[in-house]
Amino acid sequence: MANGFIVKCIDSVAQTIHNSEEEIESLDRAIGDGDHYINIKRGSMAVQSIKSELTSLTPDQAYKKIGMTLMTSVGGASGPLFASFFLAMAKEVSEGTNLQQFSIGFTSGVKSIMDRGKSKLGDKTMLDVLIPVSKKLQSLADKECEKQKLIKEIDSVAMAGVMATKDMISSKGRSAGLAERAIGHIDPGAKTCQLIISTVCKELK
Ligand code: ADP
Ligand code: MG
Repeated sequence: MANGFIVKCIDSVAQTIHNSEEEIESLDRAIGDGDHYINIKRGSMAVQSIKSELTSLTPDQAYKKIGMTLMTSVGGASGPLFASFFLAMAKEVSEGTNLQQFSIGFTSGVKSIMDRGKSKLGDKTMLDVLIPVSKKLQSLADKECEKQKLIKEIDSVAMAGVMATKDMISSKGRSAGLAERAIGHIDPGAKTCQLIISTVCKELK
């Protein structure tokens, strides 16, 4: 991904988050503490404020800067997890901006969330969107998949991931104490990731 595209995505993701306030906030109110919207809104605004600095950087430097900005500006569990995603990604995308490198970077970012959060697939978290998306991305990159097909498949894997969290019992984060009472509710962090991925997919079209 070239930096011009990253900057474009920053604005559209910020807009998506802004438009999804009610949905995201009510999800975290149901099975968390209600602050997830505020946390990610703060993150998206902080990243928007460094946009002009990003344009002169290489993609790896840009991801690193985004990660550091998120690390210092966003609280909650999600802030450091999103930050570690970008910091890990920065280590993998040094030269290239092609799909193969992006997918390696994305997978490394997801792994970093798993390590930091001590979490895995099925824990009812953002990873229930990010892990299937990273696997799909890798397999499509290996096959040198055509762009429109890639967008469609990634979008639908992300949506399936977020819907799957509805029937899960949580074993990580604030919702972990709710046991069966968390069933029937979508995980807020998973929803945020799906919204972000879907927004980037729209920009790619
Ligand atoms: P907090 O839980 O501290 O209030 P947020 O509300 O901003 O922070 O974020 C909650 C989201 O963070 C959850 O919906 C979940 O997706 C994600 N999350 C929480 N803990 C973990 C973890 N250990 N691993 C992965 N994701 C997690
Ligand atoms: Mg919360």
